[in-house]
Amino acid sequence: MKQMMNHELLEVKNLKKYYPVTTGLLSQHIGDIKAVDGVSLSIREGEILGLVGESGCGKSTLGKTILRLEEPTSGEILYKGIDITRLDKKELRELRREIQIIFQDPDASLDPRMTVGDSICEPLVIHNTGDEKERTERVAELMEQVGLEAGQTSHYPHEFSGGQKQRIGIARALAVNPRLIIADEPVSALDVSVQAQILNLMMDIQEEFGLAYLFIAHDLSVIKHMAHRMAVMYLGKIVELANKKEIFDNPLHPYTEALLSAVPSLKPKGKDRILLRGDVPSPLNPPPGCHFHPRCHRVLPICRQKEPQLVEISPEHFIACHLHNTDNL
Ligand code: SF4
Repeated sequence: MKQMMNHELLEVKNLKKYYPVTTGLLSQHIGDIKAVDGVSLSIREGEILGLVGESGCGKSTLGKTILRLEEPTSGEILYKGIDITRLDKKELRELRREIQIIFQDPDASLDPRMTVGDSICEPLVIHNTGDEKERTERVAELMEQVGLEAGQTSHYPHEFSGGQKQRIGIARALAVNPRLIIADEPVSALDVSVQAQILNLMMDIQEEFGLAYLFIAHDLSVIKHMAHRMAVMYLGKIVELANKKEIFDNPLHPYTEALLSAVPSLKPKGKDRILLRGDVPSPLNPPPGCHFHPRCHRVLPICRQKEPQLVEISPEHFIACHLHNTDNL
């Protein structure tokens, strides 16, 4: 895995994405689904930041909001110091040359009526890159880079397996030489037998081009395999963020502890399995205080009243939990 550089490529500051909920003929506003609720994080050049959490925790919405596929409600998204939230359509299109996305379902990025060659070429056309001959050569080069045959460019998506389609999705994302890729559960729709091949391909590409990834997954073993640092998300908020090894060796947030304890191969030595009670509450009506408190095995009286803030408890280890922020106790 290529070593990351210490420059911040992306900085997200207090990002929120709320979906208003309305009722009745007059569309009266009765609340908001707080899918992303004040997230701050950064990704360095060449770094893989793993983002993990149960389904419905807001991690995919966060990825799409960073790219402005979903418009943020508030907050800043700084890419190389430029606030993406303030860019107009033309500037945003230019920026998307540098930040690309790989979707969970490879069919989402492939038009069934287009040949795969045309699909991979499309970003080059959108960004007006190269002439026809150069584009044809680039598409053939990308097909080979992702382990497909250049001669297959005239085939249609239905002629490929799920794993091959994800390779095509990766080739398409790489076409315009991005610096950051948002990978939204890129292997979870694939057969287990091909997941490792796609993960290894993504790591090879990361190493070869020094790319940064925001790697979104609910599978902790995937994050362990891929990431340098990891962030744990719960109900729209980051609850723990640190170096991957530090979290896997010694998870501090009770939610992280429970997630890790549920995977036998990842359970830290000497720790028991912690059963998470109930389901993730609705982001429309989250519990007061710490949103995790109804499910927490270490809950304190203060947790029901006061929301813990994300604080740095040791260098580069951030946690939102009253157990680790003694100022609150
Ligand atoms: Fe559990 Fe309280 Fe920490 Fe929330 S703040 S995770 S309820 S101990």
